[in-house]
Amino acid sequence: MDEARRPTGPDLPVAADWFWLTWVTARTALITEPHVDEMLRSGIWYFRGRDRDLLVDTGNGVGALAPFLARLAHAGRPRHTVCVCTHAHIDHIGGFHEFGRRLLHSADRDLMEETYGGVALASALWSESLRARLAESGFVPPPLLIDAVPSPGFDPYTFRPGRAEPTHFVRGGDEIDLGGRRFTIVDLPGHTPGSIGLIDHEERALVSGDAVYDGGLIDTLPESDVGQYLGTMDLLRRLEVDVVYPGHGRPFDRSRLREIAEGYLRANGG
Ligand SMILES: [Zn+2]
Repeated sequence: MDEARRPTGPDLPVAADWFWLTWVTARTALITEPHVDEMLRSGIWYFRGRDRDLLVDTGNGVGALAPFLARLAHAGRPRHTVCVCTHAHIDHIGGFHEFGRRLLHSADRDLMEETYGGVALASALWSESLRARLAESGFVPPPLLIDAVPSPGFDPYTFRPGRAEPTHFVRGGDEIDLGGRRFTIVDLPGHTPGSIGLIDHEERALVSGDAVYDGGLIDTLPESDVGQYLGTMDLLRRLEVDVVYPGHGRPFDRSRLREIAEGYLRANGG
């Protein structure tokens, strides 16, 4: 890399634990990366089924996620985990390579290649145009997007996540059965062309990725499409779910989902 562009900064401490887990119901947990800046601190959702488990999104790939999940195993027995990424941005697809069964929408395949080629954790190394487009959506990142490292010697200026092709491509209407717990994939394009959500029929929940969360949404990236986003918001405002498990921030209920979707439609002439 170009050493001249590398900012100097304080040495970062080594984090005792990279991930933080909260059970939101008896069989659904939210995992986050507390040492990652808010902008890239995504929600990793873990759903336990009778026969296998489902992981939706994988964080930034900085800490090792699969060994962390293995510690949740029942009675020492390993669990089979199906891993789905809601879209191919770094803060969702970073740990994808750690899992054997990897699902993604094919429309995000090109974006995945771009993501794997980029440097995510040092915004000074991002292109001017990317920073300008994020600023249009109200996001101005700090120079470094972590405040600790997962292990001694970890270098955020050269870090790139492990690379892995999806093992399966998915689309709206596809189902994932965990045994006693069934999920349906729903197409939610706009933030990226291959953005998807999942409906958990048991908990009447939507796992929404970055299509919708309770905060500033990003529709100004080269891969974003406001026209598609309007269609997604029209679908979301009519969706009959009790709770949304978002790609960023805390869960929210159906009335808040409707408010956010209708607000987006109003603001964009939909
Ligand atoms: Zn995203």
